[in-house]
Amino acid sequence: MQRYFVPPEQMSEQDVRITGEDVKHIAKVMRLKSGDKIICLNNQGRQTLCEITSMETNVVTAVVLKELHEQAELPVSITIAQSLVKGDKLEFVIQKGTELGASSFYLYSGERSVVKWESSKVKKKLERLRKIAKEAAEQAERLFVPDVLYYHSTEMMLEKSFSFDAAVYLYEEQARHGQHHDLADVLHPMPSSILAVIGPEGGISEKEAVAWKSSGCRAVSLGPRILRSETAPLYLLSALSYHYEILR
Ligand code: SAH
Repeated sequence: MQRYFVPPEQMSEQDVRITGEDVKHIAKVMRLKSGDKIICLNNQGRQTLCEITSMETNVVTAVVLKELHEQAELPVSITIAQSLVKGDKLEFVIQKGTELGASSFYLYSGERSVVKWESSKVKKKLERLRKIAKEAAEQAERLFVPDVLYYHSTEMMLEKSFSFDAAVYLYEEQARHGQHHDLADVLHPMPSSILAVIGPEGGISEKEAVAWKSSGCRAVSLGPRILRSETAPLYLLSALSYHYEILR
């Protein structure tokens, strides 16, 4: 069944007003009609089974049939701090990372990152990435759409690391030195929230490694192979799912 995240103010106890691009999706792409059922979510934890009652050019109205309680969120809240990467790889990280259960994405430009964002383009880029996150969350049957935030300064992002129960940076040097145990240590017992910093194509500089460490982040390896920047978060998210959802 099709799922749509709707702004919370457009969802009352009894009915839902869907506006914007989802109207086109419902009418033109899915060819749904009055009487068809959809699931509407408010991105604040509410998930409802609804029936479409009217379809106009710019608004679809639906009545709430019942509240749904099944949910598919990872048991741990995980924020992926992803260094900017070239081309559409960032979109790939947001889409696949959302499917795999990330709670938020922080974007930053690492010292060795080839990509820099012009300030004037940040808003537009974020809009596009947030749309990708929304669609991926709908497709993955998630209860929440991950936040996508951009940090102009790495220092500001570092300050955030203190608000997480556990903070790590995925460090290729840790992997090269064969020190693969830290991630397992961090995951047991389960922290309530994790921040995981990922370096750019060129890797994490020594200066950055020192800065992450002094902000309370622990260096972790993802095993002996050196992964591309866009592969690393997907490995980590898959490992969290295996550890907390499959093994138990
Ligand atoms: N070109 C760099 C490697 C960069 S890999 C070099 O030759 O040193 C890109 C990022 O992915 C790294 O900064 C790190 O955050 C993460 N990463 C890749 N493989 C990893 C591994 N095995 N363990 C931990 N982090 C890894």
